[in-house]
Amino acid sequence: MVDRISLLPDSLANKIAAGEVVQRPASVVKELLENAVDAEATQITLVIKDGGSSLIQVKDNGMGMSVTDARLCWERHATSKIKKVEDLFNIRSFGFRGEALASIAAVARVDMKTKREEDNMGTHIMIEDCKVNKQEPTQTNTGTSIAVSNLFYNLPARRNFLKSVSVENRHCADEFIRVALAYPHIDFTFTNNGNELFRLLPGSLKQRFFELMGYKSNTRLLSVNEETDFISLNGWICEPSQAKKSRGEQFFFVNNRFIKDSYLNHAVFTAYQDLIEKDRFASFVLNISLDPKHVDINVHPTKTEVKFDDERAVYIFVKSVVRKALSGLLAAIEPEDTAISTFLSQKESTFLTQPTPKVDKSFNPFSDQQKYSPKIHPNWERYYEMEKEENQNNVQLPLVEKQIKNVEIEHCFSLNQGIIVAKVLGQMQVIHQHRAHLRILYEKFLNALNNQPVSSQALLFPRTIVLSAADFELFNSLQPDIVKLGVEMHAFGSNKVIVNGLPPTLIKANEKDLLEGLLEQYKLNKNDISLGHIAKLALALASKTAISSNKNLPEEEQKQLVQDLFACPFNTTDPKGERIYFTYSADQWIEKFDAN
Ligand code: ADP
Ligand code: MG
Repeated sequence: MVDRISLLPDSLANKIAAGEVVQRPASVVKELLENAVDAEATQITLVIKDGGSSLIQVKDNGMGMSVTDARLCWERHATSKIKKVEDLFNIRSFGFRGEALASIAAVARVDMKTKREEDNMGTHIMIEDCKVNKQEPTQTNTGTSIAVSNLFYNLPARRNFLKSVSVENRHCADEFIRVALAYPHIDFTFTNNGNELFRLLPGSLKQRFFELMGYKSNTRLLSVNEETDFISLNGWICEPSQAKKSRGEQFFFVNNRFIKDSYLNHAVFTAYQDLIEKDRFASFVLNISLDPKHVDINVHPTKTEVKFDDERAVYIFVKSVVRKALSGLLAAIEPEDTAISTFLSQKESTFLTQPTPKVDKSFNPFSDQQKYSPKIHPNWERYYEMEKEENQNNVQLPLVEKQIKNVEIEHCFSLNQGIIVAKVLGQMQVIHQHRAHLRILYEKFLNALNNQPVSSQALLFPRTIVLSAADFELFNSLQPDIVKLGVEMHAFGSNKVIVNGLPPTLIKANEKDLLEGLLEQYKLNKNDISLGHIAKLALALASKTAISSNKNLPEEEQKQLVQDLFACPFNTTDPKGERIYFTYSADQWIEKFDAN
């Protein structure tokens, strides 16, 4: 019998490999852009036509290639980025599999011009079906230009699978945005069917985020910046009031490589948990830097998924740091610094089993150090104006985003069912009484738990309460903090609690009902990992004691409530993410009338 095994010809092997690497035009965009970044280009131009299926061209002013390299780079496993096994675990550049160009050449026609600084002449090479059709010296600028045309011309089945031009355009733009966002110091241009969509001059990450997302100048972002010896987190997050109804503006990078990680997105979202409405999503761009040996970027062929050796630790770190960045807005927020130091002390034992090289802090294009040239920047003036406005602090913020101490409440009345209408700074506020009170109490209790314990008022006659065994155990674990809220309760014998005092505001409460309700509310959120223990306790007592919507308040109390609400540093939603009020200006009403 004859032998049946034969080695696949290169062109076929490359086509098979291409199936993994090149799924659609956007994959080519990604690979070419990443190669240009790896080649240390400072200017990169992307041109696509017809969703990338007719043409994808990337031109860079990077290091270029020698004559030999210009030929070799199209071979499978051809890479300049890894020479030995250890390099695999220390990879900082994008490439390393050395199969992108070979795969692209297997499924499209390619035309490349490249030249190194030190060479007089460059190389022009044309490849079709993995065969070099042309290779000759050429006059060209330093750098590399690769044009990929007629993608999947030789694989009709793949070509038919491409989606509409607009969908493929969108995918290409997404890849462009990810790379451009990770390298704000690089000049990028993106042209689609002759229209220049982006012209991005080098600038700060914040500016790049603004431009790529098309934010208006009144969009405000909070800076995130936490450096430790093991891991750093840098970037920008949106203010809670600016969270969007749709997802899509969440960008995570690990050592500047874009990653998709719903677990880490979750960490950020939970940091926002009690600050934004339930169905909204915070926008952010965040880069995690850590020693590459703690991340496996090789788990996915197109490398958008990574695996951390300690995912949970990274989750906690991200959540704590983002929360800390948000705490600038929140006076009474949990001091998450403790969370970070706990995290770090835990890390001593895991990350630090051997001397760990520090994260290369210079490797951080996310810092805002780079300067840009205002003259040629088409959108420069916008930024300039924006910065000026911020500095002069004359941006008229809408009331909803502002904390106002001692605001004067001109008129106030109740519409029944716990809806209060108030005139505040010339605007009409329609307020949900129960949610407003929940927010006020929550902030107050957080403050008591974190900063200033409330003193209790002694009861004339101490009372005892009998609890179930499970509740008694829960009570014991919460007791040291319950006392800080002014609730003077102590364990007394088995399953019994003695009450000596209550906070002045709750002095009339039925203590048994209060304690049972508090424990009940605490249990409701017990498994919510997004809330810390302190936040859970504050929320439990607030939920138990907030005024219900059924209660009609006298006008003076309504005014006090509204005043207290606007004095809260964050007041648009209650701690569970439910909207507290709607604002209407006279102009809005006039518009409504004019429309009718
Ligand atoms: P990888 O990026 O994984 O090394 P590729 O197939 O993408 O594999 O590229 C192969 C090699 O070709 C790279 O390692 C690099 O040396 C060279 N190369 C590719 N694109 C460029 C470019 N734009 N400028 C300079 N060299 C490049
Ligand atoms: Mg590559």
